[in-house]
Amino acid sequence: MPTVTLIVPVYNEEESVLGFLETLSPIIEQLSAQARLDILFVNDGSRDGTERVIMTAAKTRGYITLLNLSRNFGKEAALFAGMSHAHGDAVIPLDVDLQDPPQIIVEMVLRWIAGAKVVNARRSRRDGDSRLKTVTANAFYRIFNALADQPIPHDVGDFRLFDREVVDAICQMGERTRFNKALFSWVGFEAEEVTFDRPARFAGKTSWSYWKLWKLAWDGIFASSTVPLRIWTYIGFFLALASLIYSLVVFIRTLFFGVDVPGYASTVILILIFGGMNMFALGIIGEYVGRIYTEVQQRPIFIVRSHHRGPQGEDEDGA
Ligand code: UDP
Ligand code: MG
Repeated sequence: MPTVTLIVPVYNEEESVLGFLETLSPIIEQLSAQARLDILFVNDGSRDGTERVIMTAAKTRGYITLLNLSRNFGKEAALFAGMSHAHGDAVIPLDVDLQDPPQIIVEMVLRWIAGAKVVNARRSRRDGDSRLKTVTANAFYRIFNALADQPIPHDVGDFRLFDREVVDAICQMGERTRFNKALFSWVGFEAEEVTFDRPARFAGKTSWSYWKLWKLAWDGIFASSTVPLRIWTYIGFFLALASLIYSLVVFIRTLFFGVDVPGYASTVILILIFGGMNMFALGIIGEYVGRIYTEVQQRPIFIVRSHHRGPQGEDEDGA
């Protein structure tokens, strides 16, 4: 019987875990003839009772595994931790807050059994999200796809099914600045699609501030595209050309009409424009240099504190 591992990153989610498991158990039941589902919780350094709640639930549910990270590494790293520890023949990452409705899993798994390597779950509506979040998300997808080599599908989050082959490909990518959506597209493979309406969170609250989302978007673009660097080659070229022409104009004018002293305005404007451009270009280069620095440090993407595997949630290893 094929197995499917649901990878569930959790960060301070003690209120959501039980509701999530309750929603899930009829689905596990429903699919029991086609596939065996298990759940891998990745506890991303929660400071509340999340670990305790999961351990208690695991006592009566043999299909739960818990991976505790040593601190909060962020959702992207937590997902990677889950993918590299999942044993299933397929995996499905999903949020614990039921914003990725588990009912969709049935269709995803059936498509996979029918032969699909990747099944994307596309949000057809975002009722659960504020207007500002929808607008900024749309703008991000547009900018990202204009810059990146591999476009990412609009309105598909981390809620997807990946065949083992695809999971192994994703795990081969060891980069530290991880932007999963882009990595998922980058590995390729034909993707099928199911759609759903994205509901609001059923419990707890989002741990993503706009600032965290902004950083994620920024990381995503710089990790997936070198266009921001290349732009400066063109801007630099045209500015150099314009400067050359202007220098010639000044030179010839001086030859024929002599030296004219007033020139404060044009000098200041030129200094300001070029100074500003230089700063901006340096900033862009700095963004890449900073990322090169984190890559060469070669630090692990996550650290595991403990790993508990069902049934009875007994200890498997301490590392
Ligand atoms: N999450 C995580 N680490 C973090 C932040 C979030 O593992 O640092 C988990 C969180 O517990 C949830 C999922 O990632 O299961 C999605 O988080 P959330 O619902 O807060 O994000 P949103 O749906 O608002 O994008
Ligand atoms: Mg959510």
